[in-house]
Amino acid sequence: MWEDKVRKVVPYTPGEQPKINNLIKLNTNENPYPPAPAVRERLKDLKYGDLRLYPDPNCGLLVNALSDYHKVKPSQVFVGVGSDDVLSVAFLTFFNGDVPILFPDITYSFYDVWADLYHIPYKVTPLKADFSIDKNDYLKENGGIVIANPNAPTGLELDVSVIEEIVSKNRDSVVIVDEAYVDFGGTTVLPLIDKYENLLVVRTFSKSRNMAGLRIGYAIGSEKLIKFMSDVKFSINSYTMNRPSLELGKLSVEDDEYFKATCAKVINTRERTKKALKELNFSFPDSKTNFIFAKYDGPVSRDDIAAELRKRNILVRCFNGERIKDYMRISIGTDEEMRVVIEALKEVLR
Ligand code: PMP
Repeated sequence: MWEDKVRKVVPYTPGEQPKINNLIKLNTNENPYPPAPAVRERLKDLKYGDLRLYPDPNCGLLVNALSDYHKVKPSQVFVGVGSDDVLSVAFLTFFNGDVPILFPDITYSFYDVWADLYHIPYKVTPLKADFSIDKNDYLKENGGIVIANPNAPTGLELDVSVIEEIVSKNRDSVVIVDEAYVDFGGTTVLPLIDKYENLLVVRTFSKSRNMAGLRIGYAIGSEKLIKFMSDVKFSINSYTMNRPSLELGKLSVEDDEYFKATCAKVINTRERTKKALKELNFSFPDSKTNFIFAKYDGPVSRDDIAAELRKRNILVRCFNGERIKDYMRISIGTDEEMRVVIEALKEVLR
């Protein structure tokens, strides 16, 4: 009967990481460029002897680098093992009531998994037909709000003024804004954190900082929010961040020039890819991210297109929700990779 007492959950399904040579991997929104030069250099001479010591449980190196970069106090920064870890701690910390938390029906598909796992009541609110948010859905009683901005997998951005209205009219709830993709041309709500004690902004090093393999994420918010999260973290695992992550993360933050240059490259490639996809009769919500959520408006099915791409060693991501079953999410690779993708699509759709 022990099975009756197990905490059962339907887990999140991460994108595939197949080991195939020469794969054009556009299924998990990784950055096609390597981490900053200083990170690559440091990796060469990391002192492995230090690995016998625990890392700093307060993650000082990285927290201080991020606090300098974002011009906030160190006590307003929380770091974790990818933003998945940060978001998971935030859900566990802030969503502890009987009133359902709110997030859209089409969004990052980990939110409902954490809610289920932690027994947090939630209500998904359908996006409008064009995948935009109706702010009125978030001006109702709730136990908390989670908004990915720009949203995934749609790529669409919600105007900062709308988020501010949602935050300001929900002072009794914590509002989490997941800005995983904001560096690719979106607008951040970070300037609002000193105005609203209930606003938590979550970021990641996996996309715009080219370091998905290292697993670094962070949150910025009021000192009170961060203290509550920190208490929960120290009640689960004090040493979440390993030594190399702390050091290499700091070096990445310090190289703003490289960061901005690679983001600009991805944005340029994305805009070129949008044009090419339109010419091939694809439609998509206007993306402010490093992916395009595209639907072919012609006689070939999404699954057939994805299968044909796969035969050509090109991997994209397909989700199966009722409203999105005709869309595929194509991450933005290098110019050359996207050229190959467009050529492959021309061939498949001919
Ligand atoms: N938020 C959103 C919206 C995402 O798409 C992802 C990537 N899967 C994450 C958070 C988590 O990213 P990571 O854990 O790599 O920081």
